[in-house]
Amino acid sequence: MVFNWSQNLIVFTNGHQLSNKVQNDFESKKIKVYTGVIKDLHGDNGDLESIELESGENILRNGGFVVPRFYRPNKFAEQLNCQLDENGGVITDSAGRTSANGVYIAGETEKAGPSSLMLAAADGSRAAFSLNMDLTLERF
Ligand SMILES: Cc1cc2nc3c(=O)[nH]c(=O)nc-3n(C[C@H](O)[C@H](O)[C@H](O)COP(=O)(O)OP(=O)(O)OC[C@H]3O[C@@H](n4cnc5c(N)ncnc54)[C@H](O)[C@@H]3O)c2cc1C
Repeated sequence: MVFNWSQNLIVFTNGHQLSNKVQNDFESKKIKVYTGVIKDLHGDNGDLESIELESGENILRNGGFVVPRFYRPNKFAEQLNCQLDENGGVITDSAGRTSANGVYIAGETEKAGPSSLMLAAADGSRAAFSLNMDLTLERF
């Protein structure tokens, strides 16, 4: 996506190795890769100016993107005995029902990853529909 906006790109892996395929993809696009550990970010008044590696190299850059780590800040799902997938997302059927009876879930708490307002709202509507249907059937 970033390549779509600018081709003046450098990738810093901060000590992580890339697979051969990814390495080749970057090379074919003439994107330079630094695999060294990042020691510090330098800048002025909040604006990035350079990236210093532990090796001592200081590479000039005036902008960048970082890969976020997604996590749920609470343990509700675990405490309620909901089954999780390998990424920490809560497993549901296609209608917001978790593996724990009577527990429904919607939005980013379910996915443990990026979502959007519209998707989260749609999830909420879907879970509410399931909840209402389950209660209705229970009382019928
Ligand atoms: C910087 C940023 C920009 C974004 N830009 C866009 C955009 O342009 N368009 C778009 O569609 N989406 C955007 N999103 C994504 C969007 O905000 C989320 O996908 C959406 O808000 C998820 O809704 P949610 O209801 O799942 O979670 P949230 O909106 O996070 O709601 C969860 C609520 O639970 C509350 N909560 C958490 N823990 C507890 C607790 N223990 N007890 C009680 N309450 C608790 C929180 O305070 C929060 O109010 C952006 C997100 C970020 C972070």
